[in-house]
Parts: sequence; C-alpha cells; structure tokens
Amino acid sequence: MNITLDWLGCATFRLTIGETVVFLDAYMDRVPSAPPVGLTTAEVTKADFVLVGHAHFDHIAGAEVIARNTGAKVIGSNETARVMRGYDIPEGQLLRSQGGERHRLADGVTVRVFPSLHSCVWVSSRLDASGVTLGHYGLCEHERAAVAAESGLGTAIGGLGGGDSELARQMREHLTTAAGSRETGGALAYLIETPVGSIFWQDTSGCWTGVLQNIRPDVAIIAAAGRGNIDGEPIQGSLAQFVAREADLLRPRTIILGHHDNWMPPLTSEGGTDVEPIREELARVVPTAKLLEPGYLAGTRLLA
Ligand SMILES: [Zn+2]
Repeated sequence: MNITLDWLGCATFRLTIGETVVFLDAYMDRVPSAPPVGLTTAEVTKADFVLVGHAHFDHIAGAEVIARNTGAKVIGSNETARVMRGYDIPEGQLLRSQGGERHRLADGVTVRVFPSLHSCVWVSSRLDASGVTLGHYGLCEHERAAVAAESGLGTAIGGLGGGDSELARQMREHLTTAAGSRETGGALAYLIETPVGSIFWQDTSGCWTGVLQNIRPDVAIIAAAGRGNIDGEPIQGSLAQFVAREADLLRPRTIILGHHDNWMPPLTSEGGTDVEPIREELARVVPTAKLLEPGYLAGTRLLA
C-alpha cells in the first residue's frame, strides 16, 4: 500500500491511500490574489472522504463541491454538517463527529477523531514565527472579546476585507460566497491508521496536550499559523515553540507543516509564515524527526 500526500495550500491536503482518496480540508478555491495551488475543487473527479478540521471558510469551503461532485463522505463537527446541509449535501454523506469516533475509510484503513483547539484568534499574532509573545493568560471569554475589540480584530472572519480597493472587494466577495461558519464548531484533529503507518493531521494551531501525548503517529501534519493554543491558553512563547511542543508530544518520524503559506493576501504576509525559526526549533527539540517541506501538488511519497 502506497500513501502519497499533496499539499493544496492553507491546511488542505490530499492523501491517496492505495486506491482511496481522502481530502484533509477542501480549501483550494482561494481569493484571486493568493498563489494558485494547481487544482480547483471543480477539477476533483475522485474523492472518497473529506475530513474537515473546523468550520471556518479557509478549511471547509470546497467540501460541498467535492461532496456533490464525487459523492465523498464528509467527516466533521455538527457545525460542519450544518454548513454542508445548507448546500443540500445529503445527511447520508455526513459523518458527524466530536472526538472519540473511529471511521473506516477502506479495508484496513481507519481514522480516529480527537477533540482539539483553535489557535487564539482573539489576540493579535502578526509576528514572525520566532516572536515570543507573553500575556493574555487566564482570561475569561468576555475579557478575550474585549482584547479582540481593542486591537480591532473583531472576530477572525468579520474583521477581514475592509476598504475600497479591488483587493478588498474581492476579499469581501470571497467571504460572502465561500462556504463556512463564523464558529469553529469545535476544532477536531485526526489520526489516519493504515497497515503501513499512521498520519496525524490538524488544521489550526491548538491542542490538548493530554490528548497529543498519547498519540504516536509516524507522520504529523502540524498547523503553523497564529498564536498557538495550549490546553485553552495562548502559548507563552513563539509559534516555533508551539510547533516544537506539539512535535515533542507526538514524537513522529516525519513532520509536515500546514497553514503556513500566503493563503489570503494581504491578510497573510508575502511568503507566508517564516519557517526558518520553526526549522531551528524542531531541530533542537526533536532532532530525530525529519521535516519535509513539499510545495503544492508535489505528490510526496509518505509511507509504503
Ligand atoms: Zn479557523
């Protein structure tokens, strides 16, 4: 059994496990200013499953197209299922999950669903990956909302796309037409288990450490964007330290980053997340793990 991985931008990947095609998120149809990933959802002719990490547009959008065109089953939260129902995806194609489930993907191949956490979108994180950020610790939700309001963040999605420029107009149109929710629906992480090895995937920079420390994947796909969320609190440190902390808990042989490209300029900076500090921190904390850095649609052979 061969397993290949294609990165499709943001935290979206296509995993081909033998004859079975599994999309991890489905966000390939991006704003015109974002670099093209080489595949649109309309061009996807084969998919068996779409796993959705959470219901924000930059993850779930496109799942409805793939589900409609291919009959793929969508695995995700109740919020993900609610968004899919809004596009007339039949209930029979929706595998509602909240963490604790195991779904069969093919003979000998299953996926386990784990509860996870979203990155701290309520606090500004426009730093390079080595930028250590402290504070905003132990706040209640109403205090976090005040932090977001003070910094002009609003909500993660609602704060985007102001101004009169053509770029701003395109972003507003994208935000009003892309499938998605203002709510995360509860972030989920997934462990795909196959006869030739296991693959962990998350699509936002947050985790429950007690969950991760009991997972031992061969490959870990770790989201690298924003202010990391460790057990419900913003990491007191840098994004690079967050990624390394997760890698240290998971102890994979192979690490691949996600969510680190320039997925929505000008919201995301040119070149995306600065990966160099992450490379250095991973080499220090998990020296035996190998960091792979595939480009879009590179067809990386992961396991065999
Ligand atoms: Zn999100």
